[in-house]
Amino acid sequence: MVFRRSDMGHHATVRATVENVVDTQYATTLACGEVRVSTVEHLMAALAGFGIDNAEVDVTGPEVPILDGSAAPFVQLIESAGVVEQRAPKQYLRVLRRVAYSDGGAVAELKPHRSFRVEYTMKYDHPYLQSQCQHAAVDLCAGAFASEVSRARTFGILADMEALQARNLVRGGSLDNAIVVDDHGLLNEGGLRYHDEFVRHKILDAIGDLYVCGYPIIGAFFGCQSGHGTNHGLLRQLMAAADAYEIVTPAYAADKHVWANGAAPAPMRLQPAAAL
Ligand SMILES: [Zn+2]
Repeated sequence: MVFRRSDMGHHATVRATVENVVDTQYATTLACGEVRVSTVEHLMAALAGFGIDNAEVDVTGPEVPILDGSAAPFVQLIESAGVVEQRAPKQYLRVLRRVAYSDGGAVAELKPHRSFRVEYTMKYDHPYLQSQCQHAAVDLCAGAFASEVSRARTFGILADMEALQARNLVRGGSLDNAIVVDDHGLLNEGGLRYHDEFVRHKILDAIGDLYVCGYPIIGAFFGCQSGHGTNHGLLRQLMAAADAYEIVTPAYAADKHVWANGAAPAPMRLQPAAAL
């Protein structure tokens, strides 16, 4: 996956790799030299949801547009443009043993699993958010991302957003591109898109953050209060442990089977992690 800053010229590119993640505060930012693209996670999640692993993304500025704060607009665009199947065998990253990363009160871990599963628990000490559903798990078989995850919007607490805006951050943050809550409830008139939209957005973020590894993952992710920084820390830890994963390519027919119904893949071992 390559991002091109078309406002900086045709060759101004940055690859989505773990090494190129330079900032994880508020959003995930990739950079290579002067070329910097931030807020890549929702688009990366949409690409992961479609199993797209070979794409160039042109961006005309330093940030991927936030749109409505979810991945749904990207899903619609990819659906209308279509996906081209290529001849090269698809490669997956299969988790072989548990890897965990903790950061303050946040925890993120990956464990072996037959398909890609993402589970998240959030614990907000906030009068409204703590009354909301705090836990969700999604098995990412074909189609599940678009229907179960992609429409979940980013969210913010009004007081936090006001404090950030006073520091010139999240200037574009509004009810059009985020769910905003105060102590008493939701400020958005339209209500929630899923009954557990908050925790589903955390799942969406985790899918996008993990996809920076460059491969669809065969494994189970669990996050508790983890954000972009913790997710990225977990990914670094995974990539640093050569015995924790392998790169596999299922036989072509089995490949389709995996992503058609989430059945266990029949992995074919490639060369060890040196390829990374
Ligand atoms: Zn997000």
